[in-house]
Amino acid sequence: MTPTNQAAANPYAPPASAPAPGHRQCDACGADILARAEICPKCGVRQHSHVSKAVLLLVTFFFGGIGAHKFYLGKWWQGALYLVFFWTWIPALAALVEFVVYCFTSSERLNEKYSAHATAALVVVIAGFVGIFMIGILAAVAVPAYQDYTLRARTAGAIASVYPWRTAVAEYHAEHKRLPNSVAELPRDLVPQDPADRYATPSLGADGVITLTFQPAAGAMAGKTIVFRPQAEQDRLAWDCTGGTLAPKYRPGICRAPR
Ligand SMILES: [Zn+2]
Repeated sequence: MTPTNQAAANPYAPPASAPAPGHRQCDACGADILARAEICPKCGVRQHSHVSKAVLLLVTFFFGGIGAHKFYLGKWWQGALYLVFFWTWIPALAALVEFVVYCFTSSERLNEKYSAHATAALVVVIAGFVGIFMIGILAAVAVPAYQDYTLRARTAGAIASVYPWRTAVAEYHAEHKRLPNSVAELPRDLVPQDPADRYATPSLGADGVITLTFQPAAGAMAGKTIVFRPQAEQDRLAWDCTGGTLAPKYRPGICRAPR
């Protein structure tokens, strides 16, 4: 007996026309085609892919703002518009309205109108997650890094405002062979006139030490200090700026204490 005869003899065997595993029947002509074929190679009719109302509602509710439900229904252009303008929140509003409409549309009606494109919807949803993840990374890493960067820029400007004071101390030292202990000891023409920096104020103390104190405008650095300590090396002064209370991450490399 051939296998065909055997099947005909057995009433519980599937009919001879039943599709093989991984195959199914064409929606239009009934030909045996690959289950995942989108278009029947025999009659050329596009195969209908079942729209799940539950999936559609979930996708619309959670990812409608980026047009994922439009991609699920194969409405590519509308989906693209939602995706491009997601940041205006208008697509999210439209998706909310559509969510309510879909709620009141029967599964049969949905399947008459649409064919499911689950892969496209999944790609958009994953892209949405990747986007949220990237924004999260930006918020967690890039924003604080940028804030530190702007604070370091303020430090650089504040340190520059100390240079006229260093010059004054150096000139005083060259003339008197000792270090000044206050502004009052400096000749008037040596005293820097301009406070120069809005983020920090330098002040001259004992032994020519200049303390740079950060002002409230300096944000996270407010109240912190960088101390510039002069050391006489023969006829000139070397400055050490590793002192003070300002955190190392806001200092230029030269003003960080060696580890
Ligand atoms: Zn067909």
